[in-house]
Amino acid sequence: MNQFTSEIIEWYNHHKRNLPWRHTKDPYIIWISEIILQQTRVAQGYDYFVRFIERFPDIQSLASASEDEVLKYWQGLGYYSRARNLHAAAKSMNGKFPDKYEDVLALKGVGEYTAAAICSFAYHMPYAVLDGNVYRVLARYFNIPQPINTTAGHKLFATLAREMLYTPHPEIYNQAIMDFGALQCVPKSPSCNLCPLIESCGAYSSKLVDKLPVKLNKNKNRNRYFNYFMIRFNDSFVLRKRIADDIWKNLYELPLIETFAELSIDDLTQSNEFISMNAIFKAETDIVFCHQMKHILSHQTLFIKFYDIVLTEQLHMNEDFISVSINDTDLYAMPKPIEIFIEKIISSVV
Ligand code: SF4
Repeated sequence: MNQFTSEIIEWYNHHKRNLPWRHTKDPYIIWISEIILQQTRVAQGYDYFVRFIERFPDIQSLASASEDEVLKYWQGLGYYSRARNLHAAAKSMNGKFPDKYEDVLALKGVGEYTAAAICSFAYHMPYAVLDGNVYRVLARYFNIPQPINTTAGHKLFATLAREMLYTPHPEIYNQAIMDFGALQCVPKSPSCNLCPLIESCGAYSSKLVDKLPVKLNKNKNRNRYFNYFMIRFNDSFVLRKRIADDIWKNLYELPLIETFAELSIDDLTQSNEFISMNAIFKAETDIVFCHQMKHILSHQTLFIKFYDIVLTEQLHMNEDFISVSINDTDLYAMPKPIEIFIEKIISSVV
């Protein structure tokens, strides 16, 4: 075994994290945990994992649930395509989790990292994981200046990751290097003085720890302006399912008008979109601005305003909208900002 691998495993023997999904070889449970952790920190994802597995303990229970219910259990975790993909993949399995790397990789929502994690943890197959933690540790230890988010960079790091893998126990090595990146060689100000790899670490001896790994900035952030309307009559209000290929697909939201810039309430209510919407709901009462928030997603910043419209007559609807009792809001999976706002409104009227 090379020095890097043996030091990482030695470190892991003393520092491993006690995580529930590490006590199982069940590929289904490992798959769920890995998908939750794709874009979520362990501390935040832990409770979601426990609740999700309690409700959907196996492929069968997940495959036979409705997508709405699966999304409800995902509510608040973000990146909802993960939940939709989990559900679609469970349905495609015919009750049996695949046991070949290529078949695991072919599951909806599973990329190279997740396939390597599942196959090494559940089946002890010799596939090396390569996630943000692993990139960072390898880039620093081997002092590699190539950007990690280019095709050439990915190839180089994937080859190195494979070379470092401890093939008799790939599951131990993979968990070790991920924990080492998450706990010791952390993104900002790692405690190099406490690191067992300090003597041989390339970045440390070159004083480049805070410069590595290199990542090209490809992130084009986009601002979006959402205007939501809480249209209510007695204890009911209006929701609509988002069906377009966009953020929050298949989640429920309040009637929305998206604009290219922030608009005043006068400009908003004179817009064609508002006039068309009002043709359905026939709101003749005042529109009251009541809340605004900024919601940051990975590539988008949402500037959200909420308006309250309390109707004096029965809700008029069409097939795009549903009328929901405030007592039934728990039945609908909603994006976090909508959920927070509705809770606010409900607590002020109940
Ligand atoms: S010495 Fe510092 S940079 Fe190098 S592996 Fe250890 S923690 Fe990471």
